[in-house]
Amino acid sequence: MATKNIKQYYLPASSPGNSRTLTAIYYGNHSRPNKAYIQAGLHANEAPGFMAMHHLIDKLDAADKADQITGQIILVPVANPIGISQWRDQRLEGRFDFYNSVNFNREHLDLTERIANRVKDRLGSDPDENVAVIRKTMAKTLESITPEDEAGCLKHLLLSLSYDAEIVLDLHCDDQAVMHVYLGTPLWPDAADLSAQLGAEVTLLAEDSGVTPFDEACSRIWWQLASRFPDHPIPPTCLSATVEFRGITDVTHEYGNFDAENIFRFLQRRHFIDGKAPDLPALRNDATPLRGVAHVKAPVPGVVVFLKNPGDRIKKGAAIAEIINPVAEKSEDRITVVRSEIDGILFSTRTDHYARPGRILAKIAGKTPLKDKGENLLTL
Ligand SMILES: [Zn+2]
Repeated sequence: MATKNIKQYYLPASSPGNSRTLTAIYYGNHSRPNKAYIQAGLHANEAPGFMAMHHLIDKLDAADKADQITGQIILVPVANPIGISQWRDQRLEGRFDFYNSVNFNREHLDLTERIANRVKDRLGSDPDENVAVIRKTMAKTLESITPEDEAGCLKHLLLSLSYDAEIVLDLHCDDQAVMHVYLGTPLWPDAADLSAQLGAEVTLLAEDSGVTPFDEACSRIWWQLASRFPDHPIPPTCLSATVEFRGITDVTHEYGNFDAENIFRFLQRRHFIDGKAPDLPALRNDATPLRGVAHVKAPVPGVVVFLKNPGDRIKKGAAIAEIINPVAEKSEDRITVVRSEIDGILFSTRTDHYARPGRILAKIAGKTPLKDKGENLLTL
């Protein structure tokens, strides 16, 4: 019997008479212990995730009709009803809250301190029981929090839907980019099947990026509690990832279907859907530390011409781009060459081709950490 169920959630109105809604699609029996949660469009201008959702819904509908859903699967196909309505000058914005300029994928709820205080005398030697105690406490703690503003309520709602999932995928895209995945360091190499199945060229690992994106709000709490209570076993219970489906213009049915198929196979391999997934593709490249990402910055203003493409392997000293300044006084100053300071994989470049001093033009994944622990590791 088909289990699909669609629910609407309401955000409190931030202006009189204008309350926004969030739609969640539920598959599977809610009493099943294994839960997967997938959302798209937290950055509402990033369309590739919506395309993957569109095709994934078709695949899950078919599996559901065939009675093949063996876990709980929750989809939130449009995760940011605030951002998706941010039209300005015929352009959809969707990345920053117009109210306070906070990035919708930063400053999600950090529950670690509150949970630690509440569970410190209730943990034992059984990891499963510890997980159950922590999850129950997370539920109660979330119920006790009432955020003040609309985006805070949205973040609270998204975490309330996902905090007890063992798989959380937050679907995004970059500017012009190859497929890449952000994961918590303690989740590797257990999560290597996700990167391999998606065909990720780059997987970036961090214990704490410093800015609490949504995926970390779900997963980081587990290893933070484990290090807080070393005498009590607490496994990294939530495999939570930010998936970057290439670049912002990579919106086709072919990509959407390919990405949905890979998520479906991943869920199948992880026992959320009946049937045997095909053999896992080989992992394209081993994971590297998020602290090892080099941000290639512009030293001067001008127009950017890239000499390398996302996916290229880069040697230290290689020319990545030229910045052209047509009004430079001397002809030799008209072109400024920008070089890589590391060996690595170029995985993202700007789509708009404009430079100003200090602006990040490209990102290269290297193996050696460049930043100290505790520094903010993500861009605006
Ligand atoms: Zn994004």
